[in-house]
Amino acid sequence: MSAQLFVVATPIGHLDDMTYRAIDVLKSVSLIAAEDTRQSALLMKHYDISTPLTACHDHNESNKIDIIIDKLKNGENVALVSDAGTPLISDPGFKLVRAAQDHGIRVVPVPGACAAIAALSAVGLPSDHFSFEGFLSSKQSQRLIQLNKLKDNTHTMIIYEAPHRILDSVTDMVSVFGADREVGFAREITKTFETIKKMTLGDLQSFIANDHHQQKGEIVLVIAGAATEKDMQQEELDKLLNRLLQNLSVKAASQLAADLTGIKKKVAYQRALELSGAND
Ligand code: SAM
Repeated sequence: MSAQLFVVATPIGHLDDMTYRAIDVLKSVSLIAAEDTRQSALLMKHYDISTPLTACHDHNESNKIDIIIDKLKNGENVALVSDAGTPLISDPGFKLVRAAQDHGIRVVPVPGACAAIAALSAVGLPSDHFSFEGFLSSKQSQRLIQLNKLKDNTHTMIIYEAPHRILDSVTDMVSVFGADREVGFAREITKTFETIKKMTLGDLQSFIANDHHQQKGEIVLVIAGAATEKDMQQEELDKLLNRLLQNLSVKAASQLAADLTGIKKKVAYQRALELSGAND
């Protein structure tokens, strides 16, 4: 069987988040291409993995590719790891994976931890449609341009941010998305001081400005999408029904709301029932 390039996810904090398969693969390959060999050596030591490591990072990836492809072509299996989480996700590896494919070498994912997905799974924002935006620019002017492009997206957006930039970045988000937009803040996931919170951007700005600990460690921001027309119509309907329900019965309030907005009577009635708590 021809050799394979395994793309192996490693923990993002808690060492127990290593999969059995990841350990087996890393023990069985001839070579591990690592973003930082010193960093990966610690993980390998913990799991008693003695496979040789070679550095493969953003600055030498192009030169290393030929060497690694030669090994693969000689029938030796190779694994790719990054410092933490899933390689290629805001981490090196794309050029190597592409080159392996171009040479007809099978690329095998060995899935595991990824900060973006871990954050999305726990912050409590819609996860049916989302985009991963990686890191925003460190330059404010560029960052504002990027945020303005994202502003009208109606899906959830996942952003990685460095701790020393978190306050500036969130401040820019408040100015572009508005203080009321919901945001998930996932800091130090799987580590001792893990913080997972959902609040408005305005509240997050105060939260991190008032607590310097929140400006430390590793952070993922999950931004709620912009309200859709349907959301806005629902909000308007709720406002109207809540007002009418102060003086009218559910039936009369929903009838009037339907007349005024053109919404179906059945829909207005159901919503009026929910708002009045009559169907509790
Ligand atoms: N490849 C990694 C992954 O699969 O998530 C991401 C690597 S990227 C260089 C590092 C960024 O990921 C950090 O700046 C932070 O935004 C996010 N990150 C990584 N580990 C994290 C953790 N334990 N808690 C929160 N964010 C984390």
